[in-house]
Amino acid sequence: MKSRKYGLYIHVPFCKSKCYYCDFYSVSDNFQNLIDDYLVSLSEEIFHFLKNNNFQHPQIITLYIGGGTPSILNEKQFINLFSLVKKNFNIEDIKEITVEMNPESINENNLKVLKDIFYMSFNNFRISLGVQSFNEKVLKFLGRVHGVKQIYNAVELFNKLNIKNYNFDLIFGCPEQKIEDVEYDLNNSIKLNPVHISYYALSIEENTVFYKKKYNVDSDLQADMYNLIVKVLEEKKYVQYEISNFAKKGFECLHNINYWLYKEYFGFGPSAVSFFDNKRIKNISNIEEYIRDKFLYNTEKIDKETAIKEKIMLALRTKFGLSLENELVKRYSRIIEKFLKEEKLILENNCLKISDRYKFLSNHIILEFM
Ligand code: SF4
Repeated sequence: MKSRKYGLYIHVPFCKSKCYYCDFYSVSDNFQNLIDDYLVSLSEEIFHFLKNNNFQHPQIITLYIGGGTPSILNEKQFINLFSLVKKNFNIEDIKEITVEMNPESINENNLKVLKDIFYMSFNNFRISLGVQSFNEKVLKFLGRVHGVKQIYNAVELFNKLNIKNYNFDLIFGCPEQKIEDVEYDLNNSIKLNPVHISYYALSIEENTVFYKKKYNVDSDLQADMYNLIVKVLEEKKYVQYEISNFAKKGFECLHNINYWLYKEYFGFGPSAVSFFDNKRIKNISNIEEYIRDKFLYNTEKIDKETAIKEKIMLALRTKFGLSLENELVKRYSRIIEKFLKEEKLILENNCLKISDRYKFLSNHIILEFM
């Protein structure tokens, strides 16, 4: 029996329609009649997975229900999902619960249910809202199904129900987007006072509409936008605790911090990933097969070398940085010295961090360690 604490991620793989830039696994056609079957499979998957890996009610410190679009679930389905969690895991010590929601599928009823089942029992219940932009043209360009008005409606409901811990997911650097547009999104976001903002640069991923259309991004312009975002959010007292994540003090996302600190976690649902005992287990990315065959996993053993590289990669993305006391740093002393000299890395409290000026280029720096 294992007595460690884990993050728990549940993937809800349904979306009203597929956004043109998105490469997360989700289905958007005729899925309504699949949701109940998905929940049955999820229940079976969790039960067998824990049993086969010798876990008995493992302790969970964070729960993240992501997607896809979890807010597509109706009240009864949400209650079912949470019962599954309670039945299979020890949640006595849970520190945070996050549910991803999209503006078009938020209504007073589903928020009230979430409030009843999560908010009333746990101090730290978060909603992560897929905002992306406050510009109708950008939303259309991205293939989002909601408009700006629905973002405001969602926040109005949060206020009405006294839900204060919400994140905005935003995107920048779309073709045609100007720096003034980012400024506009920033100003509108700040006015609504989210306690957390995740701000991602658009990247063109394979298997997306944007990739097929051969869209490109202007990385110089993206760098300027990024610098503006960091500056404005810092002025407004958001702490940048990861390359793309900003939070008011005390509202950092513990679930994601758990990933970045290379801690162990479970992931259930199609395409979800678990990581424990030096292995990474990925679930099949196909809802029909998930429902029919269940337990189709791809298991990757993480050897020591890979683990070191992954730890460096994750630690350097965060404000905590990479501890120099760590023996793993010794073997990279040459690269580290070079980057310190070039001021791409800085040393703070014996931890290596990417200097502010190079944060947007962090991927290039991190790649040199790989
Ligand atoms: S709603 Fe989110 S998960 Fe669904 S397609 Fe759009 S970006 Fe992807």
